[in-house]
Amino acid sequence: MKDRIQKIEKQIKEAAEKAGRNAEAIRLVAVSKIKPAEMVREAMEAGQRVFGENYIQEAVAKIEEIGSGDIEWHFIGHLQSKKSKYAAGAFALIHSVDSLKLAKEIDKQAAKLGIVQAILIQVNTSGEESKSGTTSEEAIEMVREVAALENVAIKGLMTMPAFFDDPEGARPYFRQLRLIKERIEALAIPGVEMKELSMGMSGDFEVAIEEGATLVRVGTAIFGARNYNS
Ligand SMILES: *Cc1c(COP(=O)(O)O)cnc(C)c1O
Repeated sequence: MKDRIQKIEKQIKEAAEKAGRNAEAIRLVAVSKIKPAEMVREAMEAGQRVFGENYIQEAVAKIEEIGSGDIEWHFIGHLQSKKSKYAAGAFALIHSVDSLKLAKEIDKQAAKLGIVQAILIQVNTSGEESKSGTTSEEAIEMVREVAALENVAIKGLMTMPAFFDDPEGARPYFRQLRLIKERIEALAIPGVEMKELSMGMSGDFEVAIEEGATLVRVGTAIFGARNYNS
């Protein structure tokens, strides 16, 4: 586990150098969905500090078991509005806010807790029907609307393009997310920070870094293949 994490950290550094970027600006999110708490602990012992989860019940149980003292939990999966009461406050960052309705629900739950929940707006850059996310065209409008909510704070954007055997296939979608980010930055909307670009997974995180990723979400390359039946 330690070797795998160190290898990825090295690849992150090399991809950053190749792109003329500071590797310090890129954080590895270890995607621990389906994987048991002891594997998360093993990764923690290897120095990993940020973990991403997809399924709310599983995530809540794991956070309860492991705690969040010296690590950060991020939520990266599809979140139903009615489940937002479990997510608000439990995660340092929710990457997958894909509708105004969901943002409003998180805002309401965060207000009850007296907190401001950090979120990213998920954009469906590749336009597949099976994928969550606002369209690239609607992303800016959604950011404006969500920015008006007091108990959520937009920190950037997230995307998960279609799967390509060749990671270069994802590059245009990563680039598109960066361009949307730059357009939003130029609008200087009060309360909106465009600090984070969450993009890139095990197969394509280096390409994502070249296109500006600040959070790469890596599961398989750290924890091994996921067996949903076990
Ligand atoms: C599962 C998942 C990942 C990690 O994918 P790997 O290919 O295992 O690295 C990243 N992002 C999201 C949104 C995921 O659901």
